[in-house]
Amino acid sequence: MDFAWPDELRGLQAEAAALADEWVRDLPIHEDSWIVGSSPPFAAELARRGWLGMTWPVEAGGHGRSALERFAVYETLIARGAPVASSWFADRQIGPTLLQYGTPEQQRRHLPTIVDGTSAWCIGMSEPDAGSDVAALRTRAVRHGDEWVVDGQKVWTSGAAVADWCYLIARTDPDAPPHAGLSEFLVDMHSPGIRVEPITDATGNRHFCEVFFEEVRVPSANLVGTENGSFRQVMRQMEHERGGIDRLVSNRALYEHCLATWADRADPLVRQEIAALESGYRIGRHLVLREVLGQAPAGFSAATKTFCTEFEQRVAAFCARVAGPDALLWGRVARNICYAPGYTIMGGTTQILRNILGERLLGLPREPR
Ligand SMILES: Cc1cc2nc3c(=O)[nH]c(=O)nc-3n(C[C@H](O)[C@H](O)[C@H](O)COP(=O)(O)OP(=O)(O)OC[C@H]3O[C@@H](n4cnc5c(N)ncnc54)[C@H](O)[C@@H]3O)c2cc1C
Repeated sequence: MDFAWPDELRGLQAEAAALADEWVRDLPIHEDSWIVGSSPPFAAELARRGWLGMTWPVEAGGHGRSALERFAVYETLIARGAPVASSWFADRQIGPTLLQYGTPEQQRRHLPTIVDGTSAWCIGMSEPDAGSDVAALRTRAVRHGDEWVVDGQKVWTSGAAVADWCYLIARTDPDAPPHAGLSEFLVDMHSPGIRVEPITDATGNRHFCEVFFEEVRVPSANLVGTENGSFRQVMRQMEHERGGIDRLVSNRALYEHCLATWADRADPLVRQEIAALESGYRIGRHLVLREVLGQAPAGFSAATKTFCTEFEQRVAAFCARVAGPDALLWGRVARNICYAPGYTIMGGTTQILRNILGERLLGLPREPR
């Protein structure tokens, strides 16, 4: 094990830092750029540099680079607020899912548009009465010849208003046990019958949406993996979603800003907090590195995400404390205070992730249903 970073990785970090600084110069908010920072031109720039599909095999259209190289690029970009959201979901989890479960035809059709940054994706999982409990979801897909017909509603679908494709989970066997009758589909967001209604969040942003499906026709070739086999597939997909560096650095730019602007480094209490946060950052970073190098136990991303997102909430609270009365004025600090509760909700709540940890990793008795 060698914790020292070689020059190539330092070079990549410097390149990513320069790119991020150039693109964020005129942006008022640098936080949460992986989810609210939608920018198709920036996706094109990432593609131009070979930073989309970085670790995917060359035969599949990727760039065959190492997980550490991707980590170095994205830790730097997101920590500095680069607007990566247009390509993020696809690069983080849709591409890897298609590589694992997609048909050769699905891979041929979709991976190139992800690698060249021209397709934006959203994830249609949560519903009004099915968030933590994915098995409760009711959007259904019924087979009609060569097509599936989808009816139902999704909610909190990030980026749906600007997405070209939705990775949709729907119920395909209403008679099966709840978790056994779900399947996954690639749905063209321009299909007739789809209506998207953006939702205004507590910060005034409108990145997540309600998505309504009314008799939406999806070709049967767009079913991903095993019919009625979504539950296992989605658990794998969540590992990509929960174990990444985005969950640690969402508000790193704000932390740096507060250190430079308000934090009194001579104050013993502030110094204690800075030391605790810097230690927390390094612990979170090691947890993420273990995930991206494939060295974490299966299911451990629940612990990684819990630690990292609770850390982000501690950062938000620290920023509010050092900003003092300025935190009450609408600006980056106040915005982050309003946004921070979402860190431990999106991608699976902390309570659910602790249940997963207890039951799957520690072998505790299952919670009573
Ligand atoms: C910013 C943001 C972006 C999002 N983007 C997307 C997206 O792109 N696509 C998508 O599909 N979804 C998205 N979501 C939705 C997110 O995945 C859900 O909000 C989350 O899974 C929780 O579901 P819920 O909101 O229905 O809460 P519920 O499941 O109703 O939970 C409510 C509360 O009860 C607790 N709880 C529930 N069950 C248990 C239990 N068994 N044990 C202990 N506590 C429990 C929860 O922890 C929570 O505190 C997003 C959410 C946010 C905040």
